[in-house]
Amino acid sequence: MPELPEVETTRRGLAPHARQRRIISLSVYEPRLRWPVPRSLARRVAGQRIRRVGRRAKYLLLHLDTGTLLVHLGMSGNLRAVPRGAPRAKHDQFDLVLDSGLALRFNDPRRFGSLLYTAGEPDEHPLLRGLAPEPFARAFSAEYLWRVTRRRRVAIKQLLMNSHLVVGVGNIYASEALFRARIRPTRATRTLTRAECARLVRSVRTVLRLAIRAGGTTLRDYLGADGLPGYFRQRLYVYERAGKPCRRCGTTLRALTQGARSTYYCPSCQK
Ligand SMILES: [Zn+2]
Repeated sequence: MPELPEVETTRRGLAPHARQRRIISLSVYEPRLRWPVPRSLARRVAGQRIRRVGRRAKYLLLHLDTGTLLVHLGMSGNLRAVPRGAPRAKHDQFDLVLDSGLALRFNDPRRFGSLLYTAGEPDEHPLLRGLAPEPFARAFSAEYLWRVTRRRRVAIKQLLMNSHLVVGVGNIYASEALFRARIRPTRATRTLTRAECARLVRSVRTVLRLAIRAGGTTLRDYLGADGLPGYFRQRLYVYERAGKPCRRCGTTLRALTQGARSTYYCPSCQK
């Protein structure tokens, strides 16, 4: 599933092709995405200019003259710039044709992705309104993490993946950030010290930054905006490495299940 770094990689890949381009047309080949694509959308966006390509959590935001398109990649989607009229492949769901001769093409085999439009402030859209801070935002601070962890009973890994605390920290990045912060994923949140909270905030940012720089993590069905897979997978410390030696201390890494998700950790490095 594309996680925040993949979505940010897509944003950075597409922005130079999309920014300040006018939309000639929107062709929807399959309106039955996670939410149906409104029939009126093609008429609404035709002729509008894409002012900016932004992101909030895992939504790509195409800011237009009079509204915003919200694109979610779902479980298996990707959005790429292709030459206008390039032969269509299976699972191509829509084309946003631009005045540059390129089209932004959305491919999504499992159709959990979405294409929505809002005429209002995107932050006020029902899907974005209640979202927690972005991991790189100042609001996600050591003090904030410390305060939130005082009143929760779950294990720190589960809290970290809870999108009401911070958005965009999926399973891979939660596991990797906890390793870097030397905190065991099963630790009760209330036992975290202020210093550990500070380390964890830093680690979350470091892991996401490295993943974005590497173009996202290679997942079986993920492709970046240019169609190339990411290379972050080769740099993972613990994720899917159970039974292998810790890259830091050589101890055999372990796996366990937490909230139906696999968790990986080093029993020596993480306390
Ligand atoms: Zn270790």
